[in-house]
Amino acid sequence: MFFRGVNVDLLHEKIISDGKIFAGNILKVDSFLNHQIDVTFMEALGEEIARRFSSDGVTKVLTVEASGIAIAFPVAQSLGCDMIFAKKSQTKNLGSSVYSSPVESFTHGCVYDIRVAKEYLHDDDVVVIVDDFLANGNAVRGLIDIVSQAGATLAGVGIAIEKGFQDGGKKLRDDGIRLESMAIIDEMDAVDGEIVFRD
Ligand code: 5GP
Repeated sequence: MFFRGVNVDLLHEKIISDGKIFAGNILKVDSFLNHQIDVTFMEALGEEIARRFSSDGVTKVLTVEASGIAIAFPVAQSLGCDMIFAKKSQTKNLGSSVYSSPVESFTHGCVYDIRVAKEYLHDDDVVVIVDDFLANGNAVRGLIDIVSQAGATLAGVGIAIEKGFQDGGKKLRDDGIRLESMAIIDEMDAVDGEIVFRD
């Protein structure tokens, strides 16, 4: 089980011990989320996100490839529903009947379309959007756009690590969107490596 105050501390500890801060406000946690996946820990983190949406009648968990999959999968498993990952490229097997939305990439500095096949998302779905990081909120906004194109209901957004010094989270909350972030970083310093979390 994942109890707030116990494993949230563990998430903070793992970010501090394993996180590497790069220029441009990018944090990499390659040892458990961004390259190697600590499956036991991700399962616990996913269970906690799922617990927060357990009474919302969620029917689909929606994320974007690739890093979102590692955290969205255990959320869906715990909620007992399917998980969809939006694709970042138009593959041949995706077909032409897709919802799509343009997203400005935080890490790559370009705009790409995310796509979800219409057959997997319907107007009677209740959706939780899940992602590894929240920065300016563009990826989440693109996913919200896809939920709305489908006419589905958005239960809320679950995030592993929110960078609270960027304004994506604030804007989502201001818009009345339910946002559950497992860790919120208020400050991080690439020079001395210091990371300050919100309580
Ligand atoms: P946003 O769209 O909110 O600006 O950025 C969120 C997306 O960019 C996430 O899907 C995530 O993969 C990536 N991202 C943003 N900031 C970081 C970061 O500091 N570290 C990593 N690893 N990914 C990030």
